[in-house]
Amino acid sequence: MQRKSVGSAILHHKCPRCRTGDIFRYSFFQKPTKFTDTYKNCPHCGEQYEREPGFFFGAMYVSYAFTMAILLGTAFILYNFFGDPELIVYITTVPAVVLLSLPFVFRYSRTLFLYGFGGIKYNPEIAGEPSSNNI
Ligand SMILES: [Zn+2]
Repeated sequence: MQRKSVGSAILHHKCPRCRTGDIFRYSFFQKPTKFTDTYKNCPHCGEQYEREPGFFFGAMYVSYAFTMAILLGTAFILYNFFGDPELIVYITTVPAVVLLSLPFVFRYSRTLFLYGFGGIKYNPEIAGEPSSNNI
């Protein structure tokens, strides 16, 4: 039986318990408008993702950290690599980059929060072949 790495499971939004089932219902590239659809339970092992009501509100803190990093990173790149352009360039570019990264930020904040605070232990006994619904 092949053990699946936690990094790969997080990268592909897999269940923390079996690292096989998906956390999100659709691949972003299949249905970009439904990127928030999260399974209530793992489709492979049945593990409950929402540990308690409102569990995923905590993911907002992870999301905030991601957004600040993207915001400051974009401003840093504009300042250093594009010769400190006019203010209007910052005002338009920074929010555009933050908005474009929203699906990425949403999904990785939820996945990281579930791995970090869900208290779910990996059980390689129940892992199986990965489903085809990758991001
Ligand atoms: Zn699972």
